[in-house]
Amino acid sequence: MSKRSLILVVEDNPTNQLLTTMVLNRDGFETAVAESAEDALVFMKSRRPDLILMDVQLPGMDGLTFASSLRSIPEAAGVPVVALTSHAMRGDRERAIAAGCVGYLSKPIDTRTLSDELRALIKPSQPASVSA
Ligand code: MN
Repeated sequence: MSKRSLILVVEDNPTNQLLTTMVLNRDGFETAVAESAEDALVFMKSRRPDLILMDVQLPGMDGLTFASSLRSIPEAAGVPVVALTSHAMRGDRERAIAAGCVGYLSKPIDTRTLSDELRALIKPSQPASVSA
């Protein structure tokens, strides 16, 4: 049995926090919630998530600035970031990729496919972290 993957959900809307974590927990992920990019950066000093699912519209530091800033943080090296936006506009995907995101999803999330989409973006864990 490998350990459950940890997804850090960076989302300021309480309803979206609840829905997203319920879906991910249902499908076998461990989740943590950060209400802002600043909170997410604090969280990552203590734990390394397997993936970050990040709302683009956040109070304080916006999601894309957050994604860009992760490039200079050793703890975030190799952690895939997936952007979520409620206002899908032309160029959003390109901006997200330019900021370092590996994926881009439009809200509302599709509760049937979200977990599979994220699972496909998580790199296999290193042999050392897999229990025999
Ligand atoms: Mn938001």
